[in-house]
Amino acid sequence: MPEIPPLQEGLYADVDGVPRLLASRCDACDRLFFPRRQYCGRCSSPALRDLALSAHGTLHAWSLIDRRPKLAVIDSPYVQAEVAMPEGVHVFTVLRDCEAAQLRTGLTVEMFVGEIPRPGGEGKVHAYMFRPVAGKGGQA
Ligand SMILES: [Zn+2]
Repeated sequence: MPEIPPLQEGLYADVDGVPRLLASRCDACDRLFFPRRQYCGRCSSPALRDLALSAHGTLHAWSLIDRRPKLAVIDSPYVQAEVAMPEGVHVFTVLRDCEAAQLRTGLTVEMFVGEIPRPGGEGKVHAYMFRPVAGKGGQA
């Protein structure tokens, strides 16, 4: 079985068997960026260090997309979300394994690596996405 490649290299890595998003922290001004950068967006310093973000974040904002945008690679409906990570950076992502009615600000969500169709081609690629964590975040 052929290995499924990532949609984009360098966005995440396995840390002790858990997939984690990779951010950059500026040594000069301490600003954090996701995705990683080669130069700081605040002070232009090239002194950036990789930082593996937490496996969990909280739902900050979301939108149910019920019509497939022209260039989207996943079928609608889907949930586009902004997730606040404990380190202070926000991640724009797709939210899976959820019902729109269960979503609320502050819901605990976890990052995972899922499969999506390969853009413009055959087969699939891996991409990071998030899903609610069962039993966390005060779900009723
Ligand atoms: Zn900086």
